[in-house]
Amino acid sequence: MSNRQNTTDVILIGAGIMSATLGTLLKELTPDWKIKVFEKLSNAGEESSNEWNNAGTGHAALCELNYTVEKSDGSLDISKAIKVNEQFQLSRQFWSYLVNNNLINNPEEFIMPLPHMSYVRGEENVKFLKKRHDALSNNPLFKGMEYSEDPETLKEWLPLMMKGRNVKEPIAATKIDSGTDVNFGALTRMLFDHLKGNNVEIHYQHNVTTIKRTSDGLWELKIKNLNSGAVEVHKAKFVFIGAGGGSLHLLQKSGIPEGKHIGGFPVSGLFMVCKNPEVVEQHHAKVYGKASVGAPPMSVPHLDTRYIDNKKSLLFGPFAGFSPKFLKTGSNLDLITSVKPYNVFTMLAAGAKEMSLTKYLIQQLMLSKEQRMEELRDFVPEAKSEDWDMVVAGQRVQVIKDTEAGGKGTLQFGTEVVTGASGSIAALLGASPGASTAVHVMLEILNRCFPQQMKEWEPKVKEMIPSYGVSLVENPELLQEIHTSTAQALGLVTEQPVEEESVDVVEPEATAEEDSLIVDTGDTENDETLGVDREVPNVDANLVVEEDPKKED
Ligand SMILES: Cc1cc2nc3c(=O)[nH]c(=O)nc-3n(C[C@H](O)[C@H](O)[C@H](O)COP(=O)(O)OP(=O)(O)OC[C@H]3O[C@@H](n4cnc5c(N)ncnc54)[C@H](O)[C@@H]3O)c2cc1C
Repeated sequence: MSNRQNTTDVILIGAGIMSATLGTLLKELTPDWKIKVFEKLSNAGEESSNEWNNAGTGHAALCELNYTVEKSDGSLDISKAIKVNEQFQLSRQFWSYLVNNNLINNPEEFIMPLPHMSYVRGEENVKFLKKRHDALSNNPLFKGMEYSEDPETLKEWLPLMMKGRNVKEPIAATKIDSGTDVNFGALTRMLFDHLKGNNVEIHYQHNVTTIKRTSDGLWELKIKNLNSGAVEVHKAKFVFIGAGGGSLHLLQKSGIPEGKHIGGFPVSGLFMVCKNPEVVEQHHAKVYGKASVGAPPMSVPHLDTRYIDNKKSLLFGPFAGFSPKFLKTGSNLDLITSVKPYNVFTMLAAGAKEMSLTKYLIQQLMLSKEQRMEELRDFVPEAKSEDWDMVVAGQRVQVIKDTEAGGKGTLQFGTEVVTGASGSIAALLGASPGASTAVHVMLEILNRCFPQQMKEWEPKVKEMIPSYGVSLVENPELLQEIHTSTAQALGLVTEQPVEEESVDVVEPEATAEEDSLIVDTGDTENDETLGVDREVPNVDANLVVEEDPKKED
């Protein structure tokens, strides 16, 4: 692509993990292209990609029960789990390439090894977990997954969760040590630092307000400089709308037919964070349970060890909620202004279909801190209110569209890539599996928008991502090779566990009540090896001090 005055090759809207990934891929594939980034906030990775706004799970389907679905004949469909795992392997390879080539450094600042566990209780759920383990553990992608129903083993794996727990009812867990905690905020900032040092113009405090196609086939963007108040006009041959929750409005402004009949439904999130080092030290894992009945899949409860700013903390949640904003820093008018004549019937159909979801979200929003603590106690029976604070997480805008399977106004829980027929514009909507699969999603955009160039770029893509175009599940040797080399590059070689603390488990006594699900945490680890101190996490301005849920967001 050549350059003309005032015209650039590529404009990336938004400085989240998605634009960061696309910009970095393009810089490697075609270093001469001119790239500009416009971000309305004053720094990169401040919205959903921020470390306090998402759960930081390197989603590889190692513990997320919703990726393995029980079919009507009782067998398990593991295809989604395989897909998500393969997609995460692409991210691991690309990040390793960046580290190996000194394009980014200190991988421990954005990725840490952490066992991923699933934990359930109640007979039916235990049967399901056993079946899941049987279906996955022989698959090379899930090698090393262990299963146990034995309370003694569970005490070792999940000391904090087993303390004070009634173990009379059936409980079970799986554990796999190759999981990760990813600080997507730190990674986003690293990638933008790298881009800035490589001639990418990054404009913070610049709000993109309109996008339109001009007669010469370029895209013209009007952008408000929030510092000076001036409106700037920039043109590009290719535009990526990576504005997170802001993408839908911008897609609508572009006027491309592919963006019509799509709506968005915002789901807000809230985590509880533990500040007490004595508690934090007793948990070392991401432990996922099952979503409660009526809850959307993104509300699966989990108890996670997090590494943020070299500090270890525990996060529990997310609690879903409803807010009409599409971004955490968005406007209360976001939802209403996204309803247009061309998507109003889709939105109305979704509204009628999803009454129970709306009800669920409103109920969640109304929970008091003590009610949330009760949910947490399903995981940590002895959790004390004073050890846990609430933090507001990012907004997720779920896509609503008409589908053959679901009919008009069907809520989608995945990630949607929308590209214009000309291949000169692409947008990313939706949020799951999210940041973990950013590399896969951005490769998809490159394939859709630059099919010719991708043929030329393929050798470079394969240099960065050796398994590109190859199924790892069908090539276990390559998988092993990649797993070992990426673990080495990213510092994910599992450390030796240290002795666990002994744990008091309250023997049966009472009630085999509800069969709600529980998720817990695993074994302890040598903190020195991890370079982690034991200070209280520096919970930032997101910290919610009020107990009134209406004031939380
Ligand atoms: C509660 C929660 C938990 C999650 N947990 C996980 C997890 O465990 N693992 C995982 O992989 N993913 C997770 N995700 C999903 C993940 O966070 C997102 O998929 C990912 O961060 C999206 O990145 P993005 O770059 O598209 O958007 P963002 O990070 O939101 O970036 C978009 C940027 O665009 C800017 N912008 C918006 N409008 C404009 C405009 N008009 N002009 C200029 N700039 C604009 C915004 O300010 C923002 O900086 C979670 C998300 C949430 C909300």
